[in-house]
Parts: sequence; C-alpha cells; structure tokens
Amino acid sequence: MLWLIVLAIILMIIGRLLLSRATMLRHESGLPTGRLIYADTDERWRPNDNPLYSAMYHLTGKPDYLVDTPQGIIPVEVKSAQSPDLPYLGHLLQLAAYCLLVEESTGHAPPHGLLKYANALYEVDYTPELRRELLDTIAEIREAWQVDEVRRNHNQPNKCRACGFYQVCEEALD
Ligand code: SF4
Repeated sequence: MLWLIVLAIILMIIGRLLLSRATMLRHESGLPTGRLIYADTDERWRPNDNPLYSAMYHLTGKPDYLVDTPQGIIPVEVKSAQSPDLPYLGHLLQLAAYCLLVEESTGHAPPHGLLKYANALYEVDYTPELRRELLDTIAEIREAWQVDEVRRNHNQPNKCRACGFYQVCEEALD
C-alpha cells in the first residue's frame, strides 16, 4: 500500500509545488479563480472524516467538509491563513482533486467546490479546463517521481525555510 501513501503525499504537496506557477498560469490558462460568496460557514457543512478514493485515477484525499446541496455534494477545503488576492493555483488544484474524488465516489461531478480562508470563502467552478489541468498536473508529478534527481525550481530562501524537507534537502537555500 506504499503507493497509496505516496499518492496521498502527492495531494498534500500539490499546493506547495505549484504555488510558484500560480501567477503565470492564472493569466495563461483561463482557469477559474473563484467567486467570493460569503465569509461564515453554514450549518449544512458537515466535517468529513473519511478519505475518498478513486481507483481509476489512483487518487485519494480527504476534503475538510462535504456540503449537501440540491446540486449534489460539494467538497470544501479550509485554509487557516488569510485569503490571498485570488486563490493560489495550488489551492485550486487541491480543491479540483476533491471535486474529482466526489465525482468518482458519487457518480456526479460537483458543479463547484468551496475554498474557505480565514476571512473569505470562494466558490470555484469545477470546469473541464480545471479538471484537465488537474489530470495533467498529476501526470507531471508522477513523472517527476520516476526521475532520480529533481532540481530546485525557485530561488526563494523563505520558501525553503518553511519547507518540511529543509533539513535534508541538498537544494535548500539558506
Ligand atoms: S528545501 Fe528543498 S524541497 Fe524544500 S522548498 Fe527548498 S529546494 Fe524545495
């Protein structure tokens, strides 16, 4: 089951790996950025304790909440930080992964997911473009796992200092 653990880790690091690409891709890809809808959680939100799993995409993950709506089950990703000006691409892809897992688990693609920051809530459309970007990114990450050496792709010491691999990474910046 090592591969399941690896795939779970992949989901967790999607956000970190792609934050540096966020601004560029946001302008180039036409991906949805999300609509700010409201700032407080709703009583229909229910915490989710069970990981979702897709055999087809070899993917697993656990949305923070699942919301029952007339349009189906909507996944929610909660970030404790304040909202950036627009949601980061990594956050969008993490939410898209949860949308894909809901789609696979229920047989119905959610129309959108919810991205909750400390001070804001965004409704992010689960579009075919976002779904395609997610699948392409997963394929890229899986390819990267096959190579023996992965070089640092940024020049940000602060990012390294906040990284969980800082103590052991040979590419870390001081
Ligand atoms: S410590 Fe290594 S893995 Fe972490 S951000 Fe820096 S270069 Fe990347």
